[in-house]
Amino acid sequence: MSKQKKIATLKEQEGIKTPSNFNRTAISKGKYQRKKTVDINVLSTKIKEGNIAALAQGITLLESTNVAHQQQAQELISKCLNDQNSSIRIGITGVPGVGKSTFIESLGTSVTALGKKVAVLAVDPTSTITKGSILGDKTRMESLVKNENAFIRPSPSGSTLGGVARKTRESIVLCEAAGYNVILIETVGVGQSEVAVHDMVDFFLLLKLAGAGDELQGIKRGIMEMADAVVINKADGANEHAAKLAKAEFARALHMYPPKANGWTPPTFTCSAIHNKGITELWDMIVSFTIEMKTSGHFIKNRQQQNAHWLTQTIEDQLKQKFYNNATIIAALDTYKNKVLQSECSPFQAAEILLKIHQEELK
Ligand code: GDP
Repeated sequence: MSKQKKIATLKEQEGIKTPSNFNRTAISKGKYQRKKTVDINVLSTKIKEGNIAALAQGITLLESTNVAHQQQAQELISKCLNDQNSSIRIGITGVPGVGKSTFIESLGTSVTALGKKVAVLAVDPTSTITKGSILGDKTRMESLVKNENAFIRPSPSGSTLGGVARKTRESIVLCEAAGYNVILIETVGVGQSEVAVHDMVDFFLLLKLAGAGDELQGIKRGIMEMADAVVINKADGANEHAAKLAKAEFARALHMYPPKANGWTPPTFTCSAIHNKGITELWDMIVSFTIEMKTSGHFIKNRQQQNAHWLTQTIEDQLKQKFYNNATIIAALDTYKNKVLQSECSPFQAAEILLKIHQEELK
């Protein structure tokens, strides 16, 4: 069976006549043969040269679930690590329709005009359900996608938010190695994805809309504490006045929170992403933030803490994955779940037994 599979479809097989229009020279030269495994040294060199195709290939490699690819991806990441890079990683969150894509298009275009290289990544929890990404969809950022100083990559898909977030975290390393110095990471304001994005960025921006005077209603707990700036989008036309009122309300609310450990007071802004209004002021504020944090040492400290966090997070994710994907555990878990449901065994006892079974499996 496996031998059968190895036979290229372009080669003549028993009972199947090769069509006369086949280019036999190309076949014999191996033109149609599968590509050899990637050479990580070559790939990392090309990435560092800023080759976009190589960067995309590297990200595909780290998104692969194939064990051999994962090992190669880790090797690639090690070769691309560079703590001397001068990038700024910015997280952008907000509910669907708030204008994230339009905002990224506007901000991205402005900063590329300043000579920066922008990479847009996404952490989209819904892609774990639909197995496809909606965020980072190239068609939603029409001009940025054509900009030669911008690189846009949709959210990786995966079975867990942890897995998706880790792949994005690793993609940051490759993008920075390729010379992208502004990394924009978009996430939709649902679930736990904001926390994951907050843990991988230097600056976290919350996009909001002006409502009917009850701006703070429905805002998730914790999100205000995470924000380094609150920006009221769609401050244009008839909405401009309401946006100003919303800005003032958020400013009052932010004032009630205890000061951040890094000494930063999150400002509030209004902007119109669609008309590129307020975007330059926002960028200037992000630049001031970076200077202030670098001077005080908080910038590097935050990145170090994030690295430590990703270390433990990755261990936890991988341990869980190994545990739950183990065939013996899958069967035993089923049995013990039933026992727990029938009150034949306590959940704690069952957990202990299952962990022991797993330990035995590892021997
Ligand atoms: P996302 O779902 O958060 O990415 O939001 P989109 O960027 O797709 O924007 C949702 C809708 O809001 C689109 O129809 C945009 O054209 C519109 N929009 C985005 N920014 C603005 C803005 O600043 N002003 C106005 N009036 N509309 C905007």
